[in-house]
Amino acid sequence: MQEIQRTERVTVVGAGLVGSLLSMYLARRGFQVEVLERRPDMRREAIGAGRSINLAISTRGLHALRQVGLEEEALSHAIPMRGRMIHSATGALAFQAYGKDESQHINSLSRAWLNKSLMTHAEATGRVRIQFKQRVQHLDAERGLLEVLDEESGAVREVRSPVVFGTDGAGSAVRRELVSRPGHVAEQEHLSHGYKELTIPAGPGGAFRMEKHALHIWPRGSYMLIALPNEDGSFTCTLFLPFQGPVSFASLDSPERVVTFFEEHFPDALALIPDLEHDFFHHPTGTMVTVKSAPWHVGGRTLLLGDAAHAIVPFFGQGMNCGFEDCVVLDECLGRHARWEEAFEDFFQLRKPNADAIADMAVENFVEMRDRTADPRFLQEKAVEKV
Ligand code: FAD
Repeated sequence: MQEIQRTERVTVVGAGLVGSLLSMYLARRGFQVEVLERRPDMRREAIGAGRSINLAISTRGLHALRQVGLEEEALSHAIPMRGRMIHSATGALAFQAYGKDESQHINSLSRAWLNKSLMTHAEATGRVRIQFKQRVQHLDAERGLLEVLDEESGAVREVRSPVVFGTDGAGSAVRRELVSRPGHVAEQEHLSHGYKELTIPAGPGGAFRMEKHALHIWPRGSYMLIALPNEDGSFTCTLFLPFQGPVSFASLDSPERVVTFFEEHFPDALALIPDLEHDFFHHPTGTMVTVKSAPWHVGGRTLLLGDAAHAIVPFFGQGMNCGFEDCVVLDECLGRHARWEEAFEDFFQLRKPNADAIADMAVENFVEMRDRTADPRFLQEKAVEKV
């Protein structure tokens, strides 16, 4: 079995949120970390950070950042959300606090800012080199060989690495290689709903046009709209809607239909989204998937973490938080074991039940958010002044 040598070179596939944070943890343990990222460097080229514009970071994620000294910096860019603000179809508002006092809150943070910051801090360790526009196409886990496509030149090269970490997200190429092996499985379940991001711009002087310290929800049964605040006074809204059916992305096929739909179901939001028609027809419609795979490693040579191992739907706001917690737990496993394989197996045994549990809870919370938060008894008890 392969001994863990502190000075050896390891490869991380994917410099997303989890891969970038993982690189910092590995650098701290003395490894030389080569990161292969298929996208261009988002700090230099204007590309979207992919997926949601902002996301909720909670205790688990903050704990992982604290271990590498980044919690305070992240919190200085975050907006505390102390509860849900429920918007009824008439525009009436009701606030449901997350906890007994204001210290119990989650935080809205820009995904792009966080990803860029993690990459910069990883490189600043002096042990992490991120190579961009490098797409991993194949992995031979036994021989530790990666086939990598240079997205710019089109050249294909082989990279040898004794240990490979797959943090390449829900559609992971590394996982694809793992599941082609006997004894490895991956179940994928796509939701019949998709999502679309829309923007509520800031008011004059960067003013927030709705309550700043809340996660806004417009629950409407089989679909819903949510909004999280951004540092610049804007809100990013996400519309969750079935792909097909009488009220769906398929049925909203003209600007008139979209506006009529908003007039009927989200009138207060409509008044705040000036570019609704443009956003609706120009922004991509995202898909959501749950991935349950097992095992997450091939001996001591390859390990999956983050969405690559366990993608979940976003309704608990825990996908990234869970991936960040992976980094903490793997670090502890590396501290406990002398051999990669033992550390990876320990990690898998510790994380798999938790990952499966949050995956199921995230699907259940979709019903809670889009439906039960609108329970009239709840709304009456907690009705607040309109802001
Ligand atoms: P990713 O962020 O997907 O990063 C993977 C990286 O690998 C990317 O940089 C990609 O370019 C790269 N890559 C992919 N394939 C290759 C390849 N073949 N070769 C090289 N590089 C490759 N989570 C929360 O905790 N809170 C939230 O509020 C929240 N909100 C969400 C809202 C939405 C709408 C969605 C869809 C998700 C949300 N999540 C949230 C989940 C969160 O986005 C994911 O859990 C998180 O991004 C996982 O990070 P990751 O690094 O594992 O994967």
